Amino acid sequence: GTPGKHDFIRQIVREDLASGKHSAVRTRFPPEPNGYLHIGHAKAICLDFGIAQEFGGRCNLRFDDTNPAKEDPEFVRAIQEDVRWLGFEWASLRHASDYFEVYYLAAEKLIRDGKAYVCDLSAEQVREYRGTLTEPGRDSPFRGRSVEENLDLFRRMRAGEFPDGARTLRARIDMASGNINMRDPALYRIKHMPHPIAGAGWCIYPMYDFAHALGDAIEGITHSLCTLEFEDHRPLYDWCVDNVGLHEHPELLQPLLDKGYPLEAAKPRQIEFSRLNINYTVMSKRKLTALVADGLVDGWDDPRMYTLQGLRRRGYTPAALRLFVDRIGISKQNSVIDFSILEAALRDDLDAHAERRLAVVDPLKLVITNLPEGHEERLRFGNHPKDETLGEREVPFSRELWIEREDFAETPPKGFKRLVPGGEVRLRGAGIVRCDEVVKDADGKVIELRAWLDPDSRPGMEGASRKVKGTIHWVSAAQAVAAEFRLYDRLFSVEDPDDESGGKTYRDYLNPDSRRVVRGWLEPAAAAAAPETRFQFERLGYFVADRRDHRPQTPVFNRAVTLRDTWAG
Ligand code: ATP
Ligand code: MG
Ligand code: MG
Repeated sequence: GTPGKHDFIRQIVREDLASGKHSAVRTRFPPEPNGYLHIGHAKAICLDFGIAQEFGGRCNLRFDDTNPAKEDPEFVRAIQEDVRWLGFEWASLRHASDYFEVYYLAAEKLIRDGKAYVCDLSAEQVREYRGTLTEPGRDSPFRGRSVEENLDLFRRMRAGEFPDGARTLRARIDMASGNINMRDPALYRIKHMPHPIAGAGWCIYPMYDFAHALGDAIEGITHSLCTLEFEDHRPLYDWCVDNVGLHEHPELLQPLLDKGYPLEAAKPRQIEFSRLNINYTVMSKRKLTALVADGLVDGWDDPRMYTLQGLRRRGYTPAALRLFVDRIGISKQNSVIDFSILEAALRDDLDAHAERRLAVVDPLKLVITNLPEGHEERLRFGNHPKDETLGEREVPFSRELWIEREDFAETPPKGFKRLVPGGEVRLRGAGIVRCDEVVKDADGKVIELRAWLDPDSRPGMEGASRKVKGTIHWVSAAQAVAAEFRLYDRLFSVEDPDDESGGKTYRDYLNPDSRRVVRGWLEPAAAAAAPETRFQFERLGYFVADRRDHRPQTPVFNRAVTLRDTWAG
């Protein structure tokens, strides 16, 4: 095991291994392929795959594809890409639809055992009969059907004799149960729609609780980890596992054995943990889908989205996301995690690993009058102040530079430590300049500064250590590469965009300044980077070369996160 991770789930796993209850850990991550994965899923992925990894076990990726209406092969592909990008590999790739034949045999077994029946009530009637939290439900008039009649009807359901919604197969459990999930829940419904993988052979589909519990049992999952909202489903989960008893009835698994699947069935245990919520975000697939569909963002991988695709494009690293998940920990306590914890994890990872570069996002020309026209130097800059193994690079320096417009003030506010008329500032790694002249256009806008470079302050000289108030970054104009910078901020301007109390919805809370595009300049060694290379642009923040649009000739960098937490709220 990994030292330091001692949440209650890992504790259970340790005890189960120590006591010999299990000789090996098996987990699974069971996404429904009806959308892209989001940061909440990253928590589940890190837990499911992480525990398998830490305890020498196996974790399957299982697509919960029991609803043919909502699934899309595009999501299936993207989910696999995202899991791998996060740094995990599955032991076996499965689909709930691989097990359709087993589910069907299991349902027939329940019917033969008198534990399931075909019910002709409509969906609305089922709701009426179900009762409420304070009122017990009533038995369906079809609850007393004979085994023979139920078997006949269920087979005819499968054969396609009845229209959608005409009948369901229900578990016969307890209409008076205090747990509404146990009041004869549906196990199968009729839906005349071909399945993307299983094909046209099915017009009945298993319900989530049944399929999920049996899927876990089939794969011999030892610890089935899911979020807290399934706590109330656990009795039904156990009911399905125990009453079908796949681990004691391998004959039900014959269709899988025939297809070459290994015999792995065992009795799984469901354990719930709290889901991840982060302020300033929405996390439901429904809302993320709507943001894309309504054009409020530029697609699923918009860098402001909390999908893994979006976070990746924003510049998040897999290591930062894993670090974040480690830091927030695992518990049964529902809470909202502050967005700054996510950003801090990214800063910590990039601070340690991202090379430094120089860039100017709001350029102002600075001309050094005491250097000759055409003067050119190659300065050597370390790529990282704390990690010499990241090496050095050459940075061109010449008479004309770009500096950041906000690093100059004609009438400086109090405490301004950068360049002012007649004042001095250090050019990062190059020397100290004094501003002698401010050039303006006809409208009075500052268009150029003319400065004197103290020749005794050059790198390596004694005067280089002379004290001046500020240090600013710059890029040599002759060699600079023009670049687009996309400056992203939080997509929502309120902590809880899900709050609909004032008659508003999350759409009303979109931050109008969440995306700003500016043009500036890069030192050549930044422009040349491959897509997805992350840098700290000194004094500006952490940036990533855009995964889709960046080219060395026409660079595009996204701001992943600022250097410090500057959000005013
Ligand atoms: P959503 O509610 O956003 O649509 P979902 O739960 O329907 O998500 P699934 O594809 O069914 O999405 O989820 C796969 C796994 O990820 C499940 O085990 C689920 O519990 C887990 N998961 C989903 N959202 C979160 C979250 N916010 N925090 C932790 N785990 C999550
Ligand atoms: Mg779901
Ligand atoms: Mg859900």
